[in-house]
Amino acid sequence: MQQWDVIVIGAGAAGLMCAIEAGKRGRKVLVLDNGKRVGRKILMSGGGRCNFTNMYTSSENFLSQNKHFCKSALSRFTQWDFITLVQKHAIAYHEKTLGQLFCDDTAKDIVDMLLAEAKAANVQIALQQTITGVSFADGQYTVTTAELSRQCHSLVVASGGLSLPNLGATTFGFQLAEQFGLKVLPLRAALVPLTWQPSDKAVFEEISGVSLPVTAEANGTLFPEDMLFTHRGLSGPAILQISSYWQPGDEVVVNMAPQTDLVDFLNAQQQAHPEQEVKTALGKLLPKRLVEKLLELKILVNQPLKALNLKTIKQIADSLHGFIFKPNGTEGYRTAEVTIGGVDTDYLSSKTMEAKQQPGLYFIGEVVDVTGWLGGYNFQWAWASGWVAGQYC
Ligand SMILES: Cc1cc2nc3c(=O)[nH]c(=O)nc-3n(C[C@H](O)[C@H](O)[C@H](O)COP(=O)(O)OP(=O)(O)OC[C@H]3O[C@@H](n4cnc5c(N)ncnc54)[C@H](O)[C@@H]3O)c2cc1C
Repeated sequence: MQQWDVIVIGAGAAGLMCAIEAGKRGRKVLVLDNGKRVGRKILMSGGGRCNFTNMYTSSENFLSQNKHFCKSALSRFTQWDFITLVQKHAIAYHEKTLGQLFCDDTAKDIVDMLLAEAKAANVQIALQQTITGVSFADGQYTVTTAELSRQCHSLVVASGGLSLPNLGATTFGFQLAEQFGLKVLPLRAALVPLTWQPSDKAVFEEISGVSLPVTAEANGTLFPEDMLFTHRGLSGPAILQISSYWQPGDEVVVNMAPQTDLVDFLNAQQQAHPEQEVKTALGKLLPKRLVEKLLELKILVNQPLKALNLKTIKQIADSLHGFIFKPNGTEGYRTAEVTIGGVDTDYLSSKTMEAKQQPGLYFIGEVVDVTGWLGGYNFQWAWASGWVAGQYC
């Protein structure tokens, strides 16, 4: 039987960070992963450039049943700590927007950095491992694969969420949590495009490709970013963000001209160009294909601006400032970036990430009920939770 101090399950962002930190403490660490290579999500993240953190990370950027849980880890390993590590490895990066930091070159730089750190900390990594069982006796965990059994004092579960099943996502971590008596909160796909009702699909798929800056709101939360019409529904950062707050049956309220007071705008246009048509005036603010679609749907009526009275102007403004979509659902785990829900944080120590009732068992990263917004926050949670567990496991 192989003996290890620490076995980490999952060679993703959180697992590698934890293994590095534990290895630096002199622990004998093995990382097991079911895939052919490490950090597969890192490699494909951020369009291949990995949005590895966000300069403005705070606990406000996360969803969790206990919104305070993430504070401890986030404050002990901050975005600035990760940036220092990136700088130490001379990886070129830039801020794309809203504090989101991306590699200039490729996400592989981040994976190579983690592998170099892991090597320096004597971390061993075994890939293509199919774990068939985990048991606990006499203060030791036994992790069994088809080939052999391995024992360890500390078992760290970093097996991630359910998104992108073809990239190795499994329910392993959630099942293991339940096996050891931890509660798992309901799971759902998030940071995911929303899909049309069949009737809306027939109407809107013609304008797929149209994109515009909006605010999208659901359940009292609002995101100002771009929205994209697709063949299947709505996407773009504003929609991905709001998908984390959207529940089946909810409406999404979209302000299609968030920067402009449309009553003022149309009044001014009417004064300046009374003969101009509504279509032309609104075409100055909104994509033309969208305006034509709204005319076709009779949400707008095309007439000279001089024919509009204040009531009609207000109606136009209201319909565009508060356009209501009622999505059918989401595209699901196939395209979702993250999974909401997971191991209930009530069962974990926020200081160490160890299970309160099960000594030596740790949960980190996305498998835990902490989900970040779009914009580098999910990786920052993976680094931070992995780092803290690595100090104790
Ligand atoms: C397309 C895409 C793009 C993204 N872009 C960004 C971005 O730019 N910025 C950002 O902050 N977040 C991004 N995310 C989210 C981010 O990738 C995750 O939140 C983060 O990877 C979670 O880290 P983790 O270590 O918890 O899990 P993961 O990185 O998912 O790692 C889990 C590992 O465990 C392995 N595993 C699973 N089950 C088993 C098992 N049974 N046995 C052994 N191994 C197992 C998996 O193969 C995987 O290697 C993106 C996600 C996707 C899907």
